[in-house]
Amino acid sequence: MTPRRLHVITWGCQMNVYDSARMTDVLAPLGYAPTARPEDADMVILNTCHIRDRAAEKVFSELGRLRRLKVARAEQGGRMILAVAGCVAQAEGAEILARAPYVDVVLGPQSYHRLPELVARAARAAGAVIDTEFPVEAKFDFLPPPGHTGPTAFLTIQEGCDKFCSFCVVPYTRGAEASRPAAAVLAEARHLLARGAREITLLGQNVNAWAGAAPGGGTWRLADLLAALAALPGLLRLRYTTSHPRDMDDRLIAAHRDIPALMPFLHLPVQSGSDRVLATMNRRHSAADYLRLIERLRAARPDLALSSDFIVGHPGETAADFAATLALVRAVGFAQAYSFKYSPRPGTPAAAVPAQVSEAEKDARLAELQTLLRAQQAAFSAACVGRVLPVLFTGPGRHPGQIAGRSPALQPVHVGGPTHLIGAEAAVKITAAHPNSLSGTLVATPEKERACA
Ligand code: SAM
Ligand code: SF4
Repeated sequence: MTPRRLHVITWGCQMNVYDSARMTDVLAPLGYAPTARPEDADMVILNTCHIRDRAAEKVFSELGRLRRLKVARAEQGGRMILAVAGCVAQAEGAEILARAPYVDVVLGPQSYHRLPELVARAARAAGAVIDTEFPVEAKFDFLPPPGHTGPTAFLTIQEGCDKFCSFCVVPYTRGAEASRPAAAVLAEARHLLARGAREITLLGQNVNAWAGAAPGGGTWRLADLLAALAALPGLLRLRYTTSHPRDMDDRLIAAHRDIPALMPFLHLPVQSGSDRVLATMNRRHSAADYLRLIERLRAARPDLALSSDFIVGHPGETAADFAATLALVRAVGFAQAYSFKYSPRPGTPAAAVPAQVSEAEKDARLAELQTLLRAQQAAFSAACVGRVLPVLFTGPGRHPGQIAGRSPALQPVHVGGPTHLIGAEAAVKITAAHPNSLSGTLVATPEKERACA
């Protein structure tokens, strides 16, 4: 087999990071090994994201750059295959081929198990090969086991979305909600643990809507799956993301109390604190519902750190609606959060609403919200100083002699320490908080874990 080199450029969420890794796995039997430099690659995959503005423009500008490399390769008598994958490919496949006819393969997120066949066809064909269908076969059944190594791993258990929030393209680009069977998830988790994973993050566009075939028949919900995963030898930490408030059922809340491996950190997007905006967004819950949910989660796990997503300037959002979002943020107190300006996505209901909020207003609201969220994050981190936290070490630190890891609340933590601790959890006394990380010192005799809230 001829050795070949593969370069993958990934935009977007953790699910795209996982998908990029799986595309790399599926191409390995064809002789493709990863390379960090696109100029060395025989194939470049752009794994794209369509969730917000200018995603497609970024793809076209990257394609322009890659075209020059492809031409240079052809001049040397070689061939570079260019593939566009992910949600931009799904949404704008035809546009990509019209504007960038030098692209060889366009494939949607449900087709990446077909990549070897598409690449083989592209190698033979003069024109491009496109596959943006939602195939009937489940792609996971056709993928090799992950080639992953390292202390932390992602594992996609659910894909797609049936919720149709007014602003979001996911139901159109990722298709209907689908859950992988529990046995397949457990098998992949065992494989990851055997390759050194200690922490597994379960992924899904609506991960807590997961309802998969149980190993003995019937259906499991996420709480059942978490309990089964927590019992696997070698597993230290579990997380899941991203959740919808409507799918936080009683048993999942109880799992935060009952499963010690489930880390005390939850990303639970709320988008807005205004009931009027939540209704126009089609979120199907109120601000009060969200606050009650947080109360119940904190009753189950008092040290639970919270994260969320916010959109400012959704069509029709008034100053009073935005003030309600700030009030919700103050009421919850987030350990961290992501906030975005509303970006009209072609084909979604919100994009067709005439009452769009001006860019200037969106900018001002985003700045105000981010100031508040940054202050809350800083307060959360400052509260960690002086405490002892269990840190899972994941790699070397920025400076010689340093190692880096993650706290239970996903904060990056840097300490002076030996590299043999990478892959292990150790107690760290936190000595300083920085804007996006903590630093500390290893504690010889582990003290009792204390949370930062
Ligand atoms: N399923 C998750 C949920 O229900 O919250 C969110 C998944 S979405 C891929 C990630 C985040 O992108 C959303 O929570 C939202 O805040 C943001 N987002 C989605 N569409 C957007 C848009 N049109 N403009 C701005 N932000 C958007
Ligand atoms: Fe998009 Fe999440 Fe709403 Fe689904 S639930 S439409 S993924 S924001």
